[in-house]
Amino acid sequence: MATVFAPLSPVLANTITNDDFPVRRVFCIGQNYAAHAAEMGAVPHTGADRTPPFFFTKWAEAVVPTGSTIAYPQGTNDYHFEAELVVAISKAGRDISPENALDHVWGYGCGLDMTRRDLQSQAKAKGRPWDAGKNVEQSAPLGPLTPAAGFDPTIGAIQLTVDGTVRQTGDLGDQIWPVEDLISFVSQLYTLQPGDLIYTGTPSGVGPVSVGQHLVVTIDGLVPLEVTVGPPNA
Ligand code: MN
Repeated sequence: MATVFAPLSPVLANTITNDDFPVRRVFCIGQNYAAHAAEMGAVPHTGADRTPPFFFTKWAEAVVPTGSTIAYPQGTNDYHFEAELVVAISKAGRDISPENALDHVWGYGCGLDMTRRDLQSQAKAKGRPWDAGKNVEQSAPLGPLTPAAGFDPTIGAIQLTVDGTVRQTGDLGDQIWPVEDLISFVSQLYTLQPGDLIYTGTPSGVGPVSVGQHLVVTIDGLVPLEVTVGPPNA
């Protein structure tokens, strides 16, 4: 028997330790900052009133490294940036308690959850899945991962610039559900595996990109992520 076609090579994320981090699955949390939930037309719930997190997924192949030129995708006229903290899992587990959750983390990176906002909005209006809006080739750029030791995912500035102009600012302290709770939540639905990534949601200020624009995501204590928006792939 022959293999019908060559299997895809695994997607390898970069790390500041010059190791390769093989990407397995990509979970993305929605509306984890109240100001962004509000700009999306949702009623944000915080504190004791907060509603459980929700998430969607992207293919591993959506992950591309810093320095990439990401193609403006087909099927949209409103492709948006969302700057996000990304959590990289290296230890398997299910039904993980928040108290033990950070033991499953290899490290953290600056990420983008690029979104076909027009298609997402149409899906929302019809109560349909978000896949066409969210799960897009090259839509999950990820900067070099920094090992977890010494990084506090509960506080620190997060910012996105477009061609040098600040477009998104926030603080990790404004996450409605902190990283330990997000890991616990996802692990109650799936057995988390080494290589899984969790994109933790974006602060307010999301907006559209144009071909040629340069996006930079910074988070205090992490290596920045930089990408350029390129023309559509043929
Ligand atoms: Mn997002």
